[in-house]
Amino acid sequence: MPRQKIVIYPGSFDPPTNGHLDLIQRASEVFAHVVVAVLRNESKTALFTVEERMEMLAEATKDLENVSIDSFSGLLVDYAREREGRMILRGIRAISDYEYELQMALMNRHLNPELETLFMPAAEQYSYLSSRLVKEVNRLGGDISKLVPPNVARRLADKSS
Ligand code: ADP
Repeated sequence: MPRQKIVIYPGSFDPPTNGHLDLIQRASEVFAHVVVAVLRNESKTALFTVEERMEMLAEATKDLENVSIDSFSGLLVDYAREREGRMILRGIRAISDYEYELQMALMNRHLNPELETLFMPAAEQYSYLSSRLVKEVNRLGGDISKLVPPNVARRLADKSS
């Protein structure tokens, strides 16, 4: 069995936050290659287009040589097979994340028993941080500058102006 070199980090990233970036940075130190994969989900209404989210992620990770940005639609197991990746990365902030994440991980394993999910605990200082809250605080005029990278803060400001 070949050792895993690539890890796939899937998500909505609407928008990417410092919590996501912390996870990406830590994964990049452990794996030879990290693929951040933005889900194209027609049923979710998003603030940013998939292309905008990919651009924001690319800008924020430009100094990490072994990180690349991609998008996918449909089943994660199919995408992982296509990328020849067998390891999925997900972040856990609290027990509430764990229940949902465990369900997803077990379903993915059911669909493809060769696919493993790795849970990484969020950094303490970002463990309350979600894209949804960032959007909400920004919409109401709160300061989000310490919660997202500067390029994302700029785009959020453009959206609300
Ligand atoms: P999804 O819609 O797939 O949950 P998100 O973009 O909200 O996508 O999150 C992608 C992954 O990153 C999920 O595993 C989520 O638990 C994790 N995550 C979200 N926010 C944080 C954070 N602040 N710290 C660590 N992991 C996070």
